[in-house]
Amino acid sequence: LLDVDNSRVELETGERIGFDAAVLATGLKARIPEVEGADLPGIFTLRNLSDAISIKQYIRQNAVRRVVIVGAGFIAFEMCEAFRTLGLHTTMLYRKQVPLKRLGETFALKLVDVIRARGVRFVPGADISCFEQEAGGGLRVHSGAGEYGSDLVLIAIGAAPDTGLAETTDVALGQSGAIAVNERMQTNHPFVYAVGDCCETFHRVLRKPFHLPLGDVANKQARVAGANIGGGSASFPGVIGSFCFKVFDTEVAGTGITEQEAGEADLPARAVTVRAPNRPQEYPGSEEIGLTLVAEKGSGRILGARAVGGRGTVARVNILAAAITANLDVEQLAQMDLAYAPPFSAARDVVHIAASEWKKA
Ligand SMILES: Cc1cc2nc3c(=O)[nH]c(=O)nc-3n(C[C@H](O)[C@H](O)[C@H](O)COP(=O)(O)OP(=O)(O)OC[C@H]3O[C@@H](n4cnc5c(N)ncnc54)[C@H](O)[C@@H]3O)c2cc1C
Repeated sequence: LLDVDNSRVELETGERIGFDAAVLATGLKARIPEVEGADLPGIFTLRNLSDAISIKQYIRQNAVRRVVIVGAGFIAFEMCEAFRTLGLHTTMLYRKQVPLKRLGETFALKLVDVIRARGVRFVPGADISCFEQEAGGGLRVHSGAGEYGSDLVLIAIGAAPDTGLAETTDVALGQSGAIAVNERMQTNHPFVYAVGDCCETFHRVLRKPFHLPLGDVANKQARVAGANIGGGSASFPGVIGSFCFKVFDTEVAGTGITEQEAGEADLPARAVTVRAPNRPQEYPGSEEIGLTLVAEKGSGRILGARAVGGRGTVARVNILAAAITANLDVEQLAQMDLAYAPPFSAARDVVHIAASEWKKA
């Protein structure tokens, strides 16, 4: 319990601890489908290290061979690799047709191909209706696309800010449902701070509060709160929405906003998608990078990018994150003096090509 009026917290044991400043860092809570059997043994979510240890122990102790992953977000894709590395038969059930909406259909379907090529069964249109115990000890997962037997189920359908503690008092929530904070990471009570996945942040491209539950964001926010509590004066300028993950050998990354998000924010935008090798084609180990670049019509200001491909894909998106932060336009990007040598890139990098193509389109 958070007792703001008396500046103290109350533990489950009944113990009360007073404070001059409090920091809410309660993270997220995993979403669980509201269907029968969702609490059966062998069904897990993955939010923290203890969950990962429990999953590993369960696999070892129960001679798990078959795994069903429910959901198709970044954690689901990363876990495909983990389960396949353990040699487990892995099935991913997804309720819609195309996962990872922010990547766009082409890149998302490429990732589906990547996991299928590594032996993962990807099943679209598979909304879960219930889980039941199999006679032999396994689990039966009933979905809109049929029934699947499994020894372990991982539910990875997303997570919501854990605002349980904030809601024991009158700490205000923002529109996203996460705790509202200012740039000093203060809630509506100046001596109660919130950081990390449980709170909102400011989106610097969309110019509005936004919920981006990622570890690097949490880290920066926590340092700002700590500095302010310690008597300093620090501000967190917000995020532009950068993210990355890996699916087997394929790198995936994005930053800024998509054309759709630009449209919803009344920002006139246009996107181009290009494909180019990460190194000169004749250089050994050359791999393709697919890159979509979004920029504002008229000004050419860079608004967003997303990319899927071989080694160096994330590094390209980080160039674009810097470009967005510095308010650069496609002309400046096309001429940007990036470091070049054949082991690392082509003389005309995929980033330059995307900027030139955007100008032509
Ligand atoms: C599988 C996985 C992979 C990830 N990969 C990446 C990645 O590659 N890059 C990236 O940037 N981010 C990644 N993340 C996200 C990143 O882990 C989180 O953004 C980060 O941990 C957030 O830190 P936090 O302190 O806000 O919350 P958490 O680390 O979730 O910590 C919150 C803690 O608060 C505790 N708590 C909640 N309520 C109470 C209460 N009432 N009393 C006491 N304690 C409470 C919780 O039990 C928990 O221990 C990943 C997350 C997962 C699950």
